[in-house]
Amino acid sequence: MIVLAITFGRVIWVGVGLLMMVFLWRVGITMLRAFTTPLPGPPPAGEMRKVNVRYRCAVCGVELKLTLAPDEDPPPPRHCLEDMIVVAPLYD
Ligand SMILES: [Zn+2]
Repeated sequence: MIVLAITFGRVIWVGVGLLMMVFLWRVGITMLRAFTTPLPGPPPAGEMRKVNVRYRCAVCGVELKLTLAPDEDPPPPRHCLEDMIVVAPLYD
């Protein structure tokens, strides 16, 4: 009787352990999915707007020209963990 009780207790703990493993496995898979889900691709070329804006990184000074964006007033790109500043819209 005592042996049976001990065995039963072990079975419960094994069951709890298995449940924990399944739970952790699922959490891990969910987190992996969140990290590996690809970003949505760019919209079709017809929906892109031709823009001509120059941005400068206030931290390291790098400059870049933006020529195509999903809308006419795109949010500034980031560089050195900071939003880049608009230098001057170019019209040519
Ligand atoms: Zn920078």
